[in-house]
Amino acid sequence: MPTPWKDTVRASGRLKIHCTDSLVGDWRSVVADAMTEFNSISTRGTLGVSFVDEAAEDQANVIVWNVDGTRSTSFAGTTTTVNLRGNASAGNTRTFSIGGRMEMAHVFLPSTPGQYSQMRALGRPVRLVIAFHELIHCCGLHNDDHGGLAFHGHPSATRARNAADDVVSVQTENGYVHMPPLVITPETGRRIRANWTSGE
Ligand SMILES: [Zn+2]
Repeated sequence: MPTPWKDTVRASGRLKIHCTDSLVGDWRSVVADAMTEFNSISTRGTLGVSFVDEAAEDQANVIVWNVDGTRSTSFAGTTTTVNLRGNASAGNTRTFSIGGRMEMAHVFLPSTPGQYSQMRALGRPVRLVIAFHELIHCCGLHNDDHGGLAFHGHPSATRARNAADDVVSVQTENGYVHMPPLVITPETGRRIRANWTSGE
């Protein structure tokens, strides 16, 4: 079950996102591309939420970090610690809620996904999918909302000859789908839309 953001954020239909200086390589532009793609999917599907850049960390709703190991963050007296290897092939989003309403989200992205001693890091298309997936968590969807396409619990990365051609495969009832291009299922769209536009 998705968690709604606090009323002021929900009413604004915007999540202000701040990328910290921890981001390495071209991660900052990967996150920017994921935001652009999400916003265009949101507009087409009238999901009721878009991401905007926020230069000031203390004004942001969402703060993005690269991780290789352990990183702790705090909000309103609560500390959360994430342990994520830099070569992990998925990110991790931690949310802070008060009274059942989201107040803050921190996104942790592995700095060099898929990079092992004998293997290059996964290419930009895979990192785009990783970032996009975490943006969906920032909309209030949790692990129990996983399922289908963009929000699948177990996507797998496939290496091409060139890193720029790497893809993420997601198993669906109709076989495998490759991303990018980024897509969400109608059900994921419904959950986001309901969390941002319906009721109250
Ligand atoms: Zn997830």
